[in-house]
Amino acid sequence: MREPAQRLTGVGSTIFAEMSALAVRTGSVNLGQGFPDEDGPAEVIEAAVAALRGGRNQYPPGHGTPELLDAVVAHQRRHYGLELDRSQVVATTGATEAIAAALLGLVDPGDEVVVLEPYYDSYVAMIQFAGAVRRPVTLRAPDFRLDAAELAAAVTDRTRLILLNTPHNPTGTVLTRSELEAVAAVAIEHDLVVVTDEVYEHLTYDHEHVPLATLPGMFERTVTISSAGKTFSVTGWKVGWASGPADLVASVEGAKNWLSYASGAPLQPAVAVALNEHDAFHQALAKDLREKRDRLCAGLSTLGMQVYEPAGTYFVTTDVSALGHADGRAFCAALPELAGVVAIPSQVFYDDLDEGRHLVRWAFCKQREVIDEGLRRLGAADLRAR
Ligand SMILES: *Cc1c(COP(=O)(O)O)cnc(C)c1O
Repeated sequence: MREPAQRLTGVGSTIFAEMSALAVRTGSVNLGQGFPDEDGPAEVIEAAVAALRGGRNQYPPGHGTPELLDAVVAHQRRHYGLELDRSQVVATTGATEAIAAALLGLVDPGDEVVVLEPYYDSYVAMIQFAGAVRRPVTLRAPDFRLDAAELAAAVTDRTRLILLNTPHNPTGTVLTRSELEAVAAVAIEHDLVVVTDEVYEHLTYDHEHVPLATLPGMFERTVTISSAGKTFSVTGWKVGWASGPADLVASVEGAKNWLSYASGAPLQPAVAVALNEHDAFHQALAKDLREKRDRLCAGLSTLGMQVYEPAGTYFVTTDVSALGHADGRAFCAALPELAGVVAIPSQVFYDDLDEGRHLVRWAFCKQREVIDEGLRRLGAADLRAR
């Protein structure tokens, strides 16, 4: 057995793949990984078919196909009043590659990256690949707000970048304008770049998503990342983008060039159609998800868990300690056998294990029958620790 490279230490596999495989193996209801079980808009899928049949099958421009770049420009103007040009957008292989390219293109070995905890797991891997050091700022139950003083205290003279995520996975927090103003104040004071992952920008429930780049003085230091996966229920397409000032976008593209060079030629024009013509899809999706959130939250609460209702994203976090479980990881490991349900132990998204030990993340981007069947199974099982 040969050892993997050191940069893989501690980041061998993603918890989502691990738990989805467990769900398949045990025939469990998968409330773990955040992928919808319904397709995106039919016209958008037809646009991809047309592109495949229409000869869009060779390398597209590394920067992105012109239709997609223009659609992202138009989207940022229409939704947020941000004025971009094509040089300020780069298409990527999902938000995942945009995150990778941003960190590899903007951070040097030894630099520190301030990141919200709990964190999305690819952040940890990519900070590590860049040779950088993560400095978590914890969002704490029950309301998972960003503490401005803790954020300021996490910044040192080695800090290069703040990596933000709003709406936030896994907590469902949507950062308020005043929290974002605190981020902006710290970034401006220390002359930092901020990379902000906004893949759930359209999936909020009665809460306004404010892009950090719209705050005064922030556009020129902010790389905004999004993707078609969550907005249009096409998580398998892996079409994303980064936008911001041309110098920062050029650094992201400089790294992206050597990762994938270019991304999915036939899918990019289809995503352009989605962005240009299908705002109604994500508006309806958000409405539907809001109902599913309420359904899952009510059900989990009835089972005796403490439920932290999310303002955005696909996920609800619960505290399972009221059921007598001190450890969410052990709880989630036992759950397929006990109830035939899979969920994600949030502790894997923490450096500070004590903050996340008893927290479990449940996905509600599933058909109502799936949510109901999951709840039925959980209700039929004896979830209390013995
Ligand atoms: C799903 C997700 C991503 C990955 O997006 P892709 O476009 O599938 O690569 C990135 N960040 C967060 C917070 C996510 O939940």
